[in-house]
Amino acid sequence: MSNKNKTMSDIRNTPGKGISTISVHAGEERFRYADSITTPIVQTSTYAFKDCAHIEGYTQRGHAHFEYGRYGNPTEKVAQDRMAIMCGAEDCVLFASGMSAITTTILALVRSQDHIIITDDAYKKTLEFCSSYLQRFGIDCTIVPFGDYDGLEAAIRPNTRFIFSESPTNPYLNIFDLEWLQDVAKRHNLMTLIDATFSTPYNQCPFDYGVDIVVHSATKYLAGHNDILAGVVLGRSELVEEIRALHKAIGGVIDPHCSYLLLRGMKTFALRMERQNKTAMQVARFLEEHEQINRVYYPGLESHPHHDIAKSQMSGFGGVVSFDIKGTLETAKRFLDALKLCYIAPSLGGVETLITHPGLVSYYGLTREERYELGITDTLIRLAVGIEEPEDIIADLKQALAITAK
Ligand SMILES: *Cc1c(COP(=O)(O)O)cnc(C)c1O
Repeated sequence: MSNKNKTMSDIRNTPGKGISTISVHAGEERFRYADSITTPIVQTSTYAFKDCAHIEGYTQRGHAHFEYGRYGNPTEKVAQDRMAIMCGAEDCVLFASGMSAITTTILALVRSQDHIIITDDAYKKTLEFCSSYLQRFGIDCTIVPFGDYDGLEAAIRPNTRFIFSESPTNPYLNIFDLEWLQDVAKRHNLMTLIDATFSTPYNQCPFDYGVDIVVHSATKYLAGHNDILAGVVLGRSELVEEIRALHKAIGGVIDPHCSYLLLRGMKTFALRMERQNKTAMQVARFLEEHEQINRVYYPGLESHPHHDIAKSQMSGFGGVVSFDIKGTLETAKRFLDALKLCYIAPSLGGVETLITHPGLVSYYGLTREERYELGITDTLIRLAVGIEEPEDIIADLKQALAITAK
């Protein structure tokens, strides 16, 4: 499925091969309803048949037609096809959220008595779903410390169905060695799933490493405007078809208007990624040199423990920079409260720069000891750059640090 040696237009009938062209045009008919330049929002829950012969043509002879909203929509179809082409996948299914994509995918792939392996440095709700909810259905889950490759291989059992990991991870931007994953999956005949939300198809193509299923929270970079929730699942046709079948029953579908906003967001995807990669690198370097900062976590920095793997399997390092501010929880709070441009908010990948304190937001409810065990310290801050001028973002951080130092 690798696209390295093929142009995108070889794969589908796309009017160009660059990612910017694909993100603007792919998946569309050249001329559409009323010759509109944009893809129309087909705001309907159901579709009419002209007569009974029309129904029979659809059901018995496979004529193209939409039947009912949960089974598909023309606006959604364009977004889905564009996403598949852009991500270098045979097929794609869209979901109402990233979590809907992840949970439906896992449920479609597992059977009772199966065992799955997930790395511990994963999205909190994904971990919760795998470790608590799946147990109810007799599915066993081993959570392996991220980076413990020997431990991961040792955890494989005869009934292991798949290995699930994120890369890069949140909030430390750890990078999973996908070459290792490919090798171990081949030797043990296992499926592999990667949540590639933080890397996006702009920076990484997990299919080049034989990954079976790639999921994204399109809420983040792919939609890119902090205005919708959406999820994406990509892979080989026969696997995606299994997931699509369950999706129709579980029903976490993306609606037509959201599909439109996703399409609209995707048009500037490549531009935004180029800017966000560059800005994050500048911000990371600024923070790394700042005396009030203990440590910066960004895979583009030589100081990141996985910089070499990141360099070999990614073409850019994304828009998230995590860092540890010198001081206490009070220092971190003072710094956040002094920011004027960056919004204090969870999420990432949108046009607005967002900053969050994982300990106060995502890991609220855990004791300090539990948080520290997960590496979520009082002084850890996660910055997700938007598309503002890098100089303005840096100036905001600088003035807030100056106030904090007083
Ligand atoms: C946000 C996120 C999710 C969940 O996606 P939603 O769209 O919020 O449901 C899953 N994985 C990662 C890595 C994320 O960042």
